[in-house]
Amino acid sequence: MGYSSAKPSLNNCSEPEQVVRLRAQLLEWYGRMGRDLPWRRTRDPYAIWISEIMLQQTQVKTVLPYYQRWLAALPTVAALAAAELEAVLKLWEGLGYYTRARNLHKAAQVIVKEHGGVFPETAQQLQQALPGIGRSTAGAIASSAFGRCEAILDANARRVLGRLFAVGDPPARAEAKLWEISQRLVDPQAPHNFNQALMDLGATVCTARSPLCLLCPWQVDCLGRRSGDPTHFPVRPARAVRSEIAGVSVAIECQGKFLLVRRPERGLLAGLWEFPFVESVGGGEPEETVRVAFGNRLESLERLGQVEHEFTHRHLTAQVLRAQWIAAPAALPKVFDCREHTWQPPECWLKFPMPGYVHKICKLLKEALPKVSVD
Ligand code: SF4
Repeated sequence: MGYSSAKPSLNNCSEPEQVVRLRAQLLEWYGRMGRDLPWRRTRDPYAIWISEIMLQQTQVKTVLPYYQRWLAALPTVAALAAAELEAVLKLWEGLGYYTRARNLHKAAQVIVKEHGGVFPETAQQLQQALPGIGRSTAGAIASSAFGRCEAILDANARRVLGRLFAVGDPPARAEAKLWEISQRLVDPQAPHNFNQALMDLGATVCTARSPLCLLCPWQVDCLGRRSGDPTHFPVRPARAVRSEIAGVSVAIECQGKFLLVRRPERGLLAGLWEFPFVESVGGGEPEETVRVAFGNRLESLERLGQVEHEFTHRHLTAQVLRAQWIAAPAALPKVFDCREHTWQPPECWLKFPMPGYVHKICKLLKEALPKVSVD
């Protein structure tokens, strides 16, 4: 780790000769090895913006079908601005981090109402004018769509540049240094290709656990490689402790229809639909948890199994119960009555945007109750 104090790193970077060489090496590599991705074949800021937001925290192979489907359904910023939020969330369903979809919707309305449907062109304008666009995303859009010489610093770029210059500072201090390096290196003649190449190098060669240094165009200059263990760089922030959420999801049936409730507009999985979920306090039996929440409105409680789901900083465990509703359909407990809700037959469930853990419950219901068809 002593290598982190190797001062030549940034200083070297300021020497035009090294900068020119690093640019040329990366672009030459990109010409041979860069991935052919649909958002790289367009200069449409809308399409590039959608791809950049989808790619946040999500791998390319996951994004590809979503990107195609999204552009087929909402081909322009005007179409997105005019769409119902429900339809937008449905298109996003399964990608996670749903705030991204909400912000896309909001930002499209800002572009249409306040900018006459025209995208701001610089990274600073993009970041300031639109919700959900951070500095790196702004740099990626400005360089890809408008050919601006703007830097990026997504997770891949951060890793590659941190290793290239053996940046060993604590994360908060390293951030400024890495931005400086990225801005210094981005090629004014080819900012789009340079930034995309940086992302590709991080995704395919300078990977998190096992960098393939022998295949890397920067192997000669790389201080991280020369240190003997590039994976020490850059220093990563301490991982947040993942908190546990435990509770009961209850599929409540009334005359062939099941109760779906919408989550609140803020917080985890905001605005998505689920079967009523009751958090367990004190770890009692799931039937008891449900009885406390629903009183004598339910009968024939039956355990169907358990689903688990990982969120960024949380782990959810839900016991899944099926129950029959024996009260008047409108007599919901207050905690659910104050939320938007609906009774739906299984074949209609999937019309509602639902988080991944609810899809797992639907699958469980389908397996447990062969007559239930959710397709
Ligand atoms: S030489 Fe190795 S550690 Fe350095 S940038 Fe290339 S892949 Fe990453």
